[in-house]
Amino acid sequence: MNSQAIVFDIQKFSLHDGPGIRTTVFLKGCPLRCLWCHNPESWTARPELLYSPGKCTRCGKCAAVCPNRAHSFEAGRHVFARNLCLACGKCADVCPTGALELCGQYRTIEDVLAAVLADRPFYQNSGGGMTLSGGEPMAQFAFTEALLRAASANGIHTALETCGVAPWQEFQNILPFTDLFLFDIKSLDAEKHLQFTGVPLAPVRRTLDSLAAAGVKIILRCPLIPGMNDSQPELAGIGELAENLPAVSEVQVEPYHPLGQSKALRLGLSDYYAAPFATQEFTLACIAAIQRHTGKSVRKS
Ligand code: SF4
Ligand code: SF4
Repeated sequence: MNSQAIVFDIQKFSLHDGPGIRTTVFLKGCPLRCLWCHNPESWTARPELLYSPGKCTRCGKCAAVCPNRAHSFEAGRHVFARNLCLACGKCADVCPTGALELCGQYRTIEDVLAAVLADRPFYQNSGGGMTLSGGEPMAQFAFTEALLRAASANGIHTALETCGVAPWQEFQNILPFTDLFLFDIKSLDAEKHLQFTGVPLAPVRRTLDSLAAAGVKIILRCPLIPGMNDSQPELAGIGELAENLPAVSEVQVEPYHPLGQSKALRLGLSDYYAAPFATQEFTLACIAAIQRHTGKSVRKS
């Protein structure tokens, strides 16, 4: 059993990642590279340094502690050489302005489980539990399986948010410990799916169909990205997909928000796609377009 994983957040009192009040554990590592990703800091399965140049006062404390000379100053300008960074976190510890932040920590099963169990009374009163998200939790499969197993053994309702890209055998292994799958569908257009996420649609659909055939509970989660996956045929396809899979109880849409853009800049990612803001009017129109093709609930997550 792999008893450690790289976790980048544990969010308490979450109301948007499954039923009731939940603790959501965010794991780093993802096989997809969605152009609009809300959490680009989740992509790599290793700790990373986020740097906000606008907060830097050029005090030089980071350069003084860095063991690999990743920080330097040229003509009064702070230069951060990301390729030299070992993600040790020493500079973030001494930075007085919060310009540096280490994202991702190795956490043990026992440590994460204790954080989850601490809120058991809230789950019992609200029908909540634990949700694993990311990134893609299946990218750190051994930890994900062990944590789901341990939470389930403690009587905690478990949910897994997934993009579906992992070996089917691994999904089979977690079925006994996973009460709900929050299954991400980015686009039902095969060409767009590959173009926008870097991964073909076919394996995603295979996993979804296999989970549905296994009789598990599924909620479809669909990002709404203006100009990218909001065509009428795609929205109709989401509604039809939900309608045709008995295991799917609901469709939840997630309108694009630009938070990922600032995180991408802090990670030094230059090719992040900044979509137009998803207005309430846009979101309601998309929900209506999906709802026309299914009798199941369609709502904002
Ligand atoms: S995280 Fe460590 S290696 Fe990276 S820049 Fe900071 S001090 Fe240097
Ligand atoms: S410690 Fe923080 S504020 Fe000081 S130079 Fe480094 S990044 Fe800038």
